[in-house]
Amino acid sequence: MSCGKFLKCSFCEEPVVTIVRYAKLRLCKKHFTEFIHRKVLKTIERYRLVERGCRILVAVSGGKDSTALLHILSALSKQLGFEVIALHIDLGIGEYSKKARVVVEKLCKDLGVPLVLLDLKEMIGAGITDLVAKSKRPACSLCGLVKRYLMNVTAFELKAHAIALGHHLDDLLPYIVKSFVLQNLSEIGKLGPKTESREVFIGRIRPLYEVSESETTLYAYFQSLPIVDESCPYTARKGSIEDEIRRFLNNVEVKRPGFKIAFARAVAKNMEFYKKGLMSGVSACNYCGMPALSNMCAFCKLTYRLLGKPMGPEIRDRIRKTLIELKLVAQQ
Ligand code: SF4
Ligand code: ZN
Ligand code: ZN
Repeated sequence: MSCGKFLKCSFCEEPVVTIVRYAKLRLCKKHFTEFIHRKVLKTIERYRLVERGCRILVAVSGGKDSTALLHILSALSKQLGFEVIALHIDLGIGEYSKKARVVVEKLCKDLGVPLVLLDLKEMIGAGITDLVAKSKRPACSLCGLVKRYLMNVTAFELKAHAIALGHHLDDLLPYIVKSFVLQNLSEIGKLGPKTESREVFIGRIRPLYEVSESETTLYAYFQSLPIVDESCPYTARKGSIEDEIRRFLNNVEVKRPGFKIAFARAVAKNMEFYKKGLMSGVSACNYCGMPALSNMCAFCKLTYRLLGKPMGPEIRDRIRKTLIELKLVAQQ
């Protein structure tokens, strides 16, 4: 490649902003954006994540990954003919939640994407910080439970075909390796590009399954996406097993470019095997009708224990009203 003063893009005369070693490409800003769009488009096709006419609920936290995901899906939705609706949950975690909410509101306004905004404190009278103070459960496990419930109810009431999550390659592979080492094989079944919908459980899709963390970071940067500039105070400290595995995989990737994507594809090929056992024994909660492993779902149990009553039914009502107000569902 002729360089002159600077390296030129593989497709045009513009200067290179990044080198994608596994694809043997040097890309300018414009062609990097196109490269990521094409990559996500191929992921959608390869794993059959979305079909024409689908309604996709995109969970947006305000961090770079989910923000980049919404931006990419919003661009691809026109080309592929599917509908995108954003969901943001104000978790009531002090300043962090306030900033995240502002960021997501701005992003959705800029993109013209409808936003379903759920305020946890307003809905159940307690945010994650309050719930953590009342519970012995670790913050992220409690928060994950609440988010999964609210996402599922919103997607179910919206009649969405899937919930799109911003998990990328470097989020997923370390958990896949850890689950394999510990032989929690059904856990791997939850970490693939797609989990199918079943009755009241709305399936998840991960369009960034083959996109690395550095790629989402660059994408968000080059698109000047608004992102929340601080981490949640409950974010796990560095030094976890997942961090160690991530470092190991990145070292292999440096020596063998393309290794991580090849690994992710190999896992995806065996997903049906890993998914065996998932969702078995799931029924509907006696209180709210959402997926449950016994007669009461995890959210109703949690709110019953911490707040004195199972709040699933109220939440479903509340979300239904919000969606009617936003004209995203018709009044029955
Ligand atoms: Fe929730 Fe933990 Fe994420 Fe904070 S770091 S938003 S508590 S899951
Ligand atoms: Zn270029
Ligand atoms: Zn319930």
